[in-house]
Amino acid sequence: MRSVRKTFGDSVVLRDVDLEVAPHTVTALIGASGSGKSTLLRCANLLEEIDDGAIWLDDEEITHPRADQDAVRRRIGVVFQAYNLFPHMTVLDNITLAPRRVHGVSRTDAEARAHELLERLGLGGRAGEYPDRLSGGQQQRVAIVRALAARPRLLLLDEITAALDPELVGEVLAVVRDLKADGMTMVLATHEMGFARDVADQVCFLDSGVVLERGTAEQIFGDPRHERTQRFLRRIV
Ligand code: ADP
Ligand code: MG
Repeated sequence: MRSVRKTFGDSVVLRDVDLEVAPHTVTALIGASGSGKSTLLRCANLLEEIDDGAIWLDDEEITHPRADQDAVRRRIGVVFQAYNLFPHMTVLDNITLAPRRVHGVSRTDAEARAHELLERLGLGGRAGEYPDRLSGGQQQRVAIVRALAARPRLLLLDEITAALDPELVGEVLAVVRDLKADGMTMVLATHEMGFARDVADQVCFLDSGVVLERGTAEQIFGDPRHERTQRFLRRIV
C-alpha cells in the first residue's frame, strides 16, 4: 500500500498509510478499537474503495480502475471476526460454494480440495455437519478452510478469535501458526498481543488511521519508541 487514504464522509479513517508485506511473512495490525485496522484490511481486499493512494498485489496495481476486482479477490482470502457460515448449508457446501459457483471449479475438484483442507485443519469427518453442530473454534476453522479453498496468495484475518470463548482461542491461533509454517502470507488484525508477538514478522501500530510505529515484534513489544504505543501496550498487555 502506498499513501492510502480512506474517508467516510468527513472523517479520515486511513491517512497516508504505507504498508509493505513480503511474501511468506505475517504482519500484525494492532491498535485501539476504531484505529482503522478493519478498514485497512477491507481496502486491501477491495471491499472498500480508497480515496487516494494505491495498492499492489505482486506486480499488479489492484486499485487501478481497470483491475479485474473479482480476480483480485480470488487471490486474497479473508476471515472475519464472526464466522459468517451459511447456517442452512453443510460444512462442505459452505466451503465449495464459491469455488463452484464463482470460480468455475468442478464439484469433484472443489470437494477434494475441501476434504484435504478440513483434514489439515483438524476437521476431517466434519464435512457433512451443519455449522450449529460445531463449536465456535471449529466454525472459525471452517471459515479459514473456506478462505483457503481458492488457494489465495494472501490471507487477511480480522480479529478471528475475538468472538470465541477463551478456551477455543488456542486452536484457531494454532491454525494460523501452521499456515505460517507452510509459508502463507498473512495480514492480521488482533488484540491477542502474546500471539502477535509470537507469530508476526512485522507489527504495525495504528493510531487514528495512521501507522504510528512499525517494526519487528521484538522492537514494537520490547522497545516501543512512540509514547502512544507504549501507553497502548501498557494498557492491553
Ligand atoms: P478497528 O478495526 O481498528 O476497530 P475500523 O476500521 O473498524 O477500526 O474503524 C475505523 C474508523 O472508521 C472508526 O471511527 C469507525 O467508526 C469508522 N468506520 C468504519 N467503517 C465505517 C463505515 N462503513 N462508515 C462510516 N464510518 C466507518
Ligand atoms: Mg476492527
